[in-house]
Amino acid sequence: MEYEVVIGLEVHVELNTKTKIFCGCSTEFGGAPNTHVCPVCSGMPGSLPVLNKEVVNKAISVGLATNCEITRNSKFDRKNYFYPDNPQNYQISQLYYPICRNGYVTIPAKGGSKQVRIHEIHMEEDAGKLIHDPVTDDTYVDFNRSGVPLIEIVSEPDMRSADEVIAYLEKLRETIQYLDASDCKLNEGSMRADVNISIREMGSEEFGTRTESKNLNSFKAIRRCIENEVNRQKEIIESGEKVVQETRRWDDEKGVSSPMRSKEDAQDYRYFPDPDLVPIMVSDEWIEEIRAKQPEFKDEKKVRYKEMYGLPDYDIDQITGSKKLGEIFEGAVSAGADPKKVSNWLMVETMRLMKENDMDADQLKFSPENLAKLVKLVDSKEINNSVAKEVFEKAVFLDDLDPVQYVADNNLSTKADSGELEAVVKKAIEANPKAVEDIKNGKGKAVGAIVGYVMKEMKGKCDPGEVNRLISQLLK
Ligand code: ADP
Ligand code: MG
Ligand code: ZN
Repeated sequence: MEYEVVIGLEVHVELNTKTKIFCGCSTEFGGAPNTHVCPVCSGMPGSLPVLNKEVVNKAISVGLATNCEITRNSKFDRKNYFYPDNPQNYQISQLYYPICRNGYVTIPAKGGSKQVRIHEIHMEEDAGKLIHDPVTDDTYVDFNRSGVPLIEIVSEPDMRSADEVIAYLEKLRETIQYLDASDCKLNEGSMRADVNISIREMGSEEFGTRTESKNLNSFKAIRRCIENEVNRQKEIIESGEKVVQETRRWDDEKGVSSPMRSKEDAQDYRYFPDPDLVPIMVSDEWIEEIRAKQPEFKDEKKVRYKEMYGLPDYDIDQITGSKKLGEIFEGAVSAGADPKKVSNWLMVETMRLMKENDMDADQLKFSPENLAKLVKLVDSKEINNSVAKEVFEKAVFLDDLDPVQYVADNNLSTKADSGELEAVVKKAIEANPKAVEDIKNGKGKAVGAIVGYVMKEMKGKCDPGEVNRLISQLLK
């Protein structure tokens, strides 16, 4: 039998506001446990939440970017459950009137593109964190994360493969990063996806019973989990059994999933409107104010880069992969550097060093002006390519130093006295009689030995083109 895979996602994204959603505590990650807490976010009786307007701004900006309707009269509800990382014994969330509804994003798919519909986006608060000590068997709780703002983006069950799921998540991540609403890191938990999976006979109209998989902290884990779950459901159906609706935990190390809780254990959250918070009335002006500040998104930027700079599609895709790279690119080009050369520095050396230093593009700190100066130093043959790589890494990439100054201070210019270079080339020819003979016998490649000798003598501070020219001149 042939099956169709049906997937819908619930994606939590931590918003990068300075302070928490209902109090003034810092949202900064990594502080000592329980140092970013107050009576509100540690659930003290009698404390009162006050909504952080910036959370609403960011939620609306994500909603506009994903073609949602903005709910004009939105409010918060209490989701009641007991858990030690949840100090109020309820989470403030939105059930009845989520801030955004009925949107969609367009993703690349087989044979072109497709739309994945978004059912809703709602705002809520994050919980604290439990830390278990396996030695003493004690559990500790850290409330620093309690009250950090989240949005939950709920899709319709519109995805049909792991590829579409990854494409959808990449699209959300790219959009939200461009909006500067979150860094969306799966491995650090600022983006978390719960994946609802079912299968049905190809051509069938009805949905099959779904399971929900949690604990997925990389695209790779998501893909493996989907493949595993689809096979598991096929085996169940083919052996004549029924898939049970349940939540499952994916163990990426072992490559297996296990049940966490079934529908029967599903909690009744006894939702009710939060009486401590006033409704949020969103006016046309408010929406327009946010719309006016929306950035140029990746798709728009790609079209513009193609028209303005005529770069290859591959380059454009890489450079627009993050807002920051695009900013550096445009800055360096407007400082007068050649677009294709700037693009090469970003795609090759910058990306290599980012990987080596385990950095993201938003952590890059060099200025476009200094990159432009470096490109011009190479163009004017002031330095050659290998020296340029060194100057880029040591001066520009690491410390954002002026490369012109750096080249002067470290005496790296290749425009050394040409008499000196000629003398070294002469010496190299004398020292490599075998290569000279080979060249005279038509083995052009032998010149490499002489060039290598010169480069070594000159410690790389010369232009290989000039060296080649001098060699053929002297050999004539
Ligand atoms: P619940 O309220 O039980 O969480 P929802 O209707 O909110 O259920 O759906 C949660 C998520 O599950 C949504 O992203 C939705 O697209 C997805 N989903 C619903 N039904 C199916 C199904 N049969 N197969 C796959 N995904 C589904
Ligand atoms: Mg749900
Ligand atoms: Zn607080």
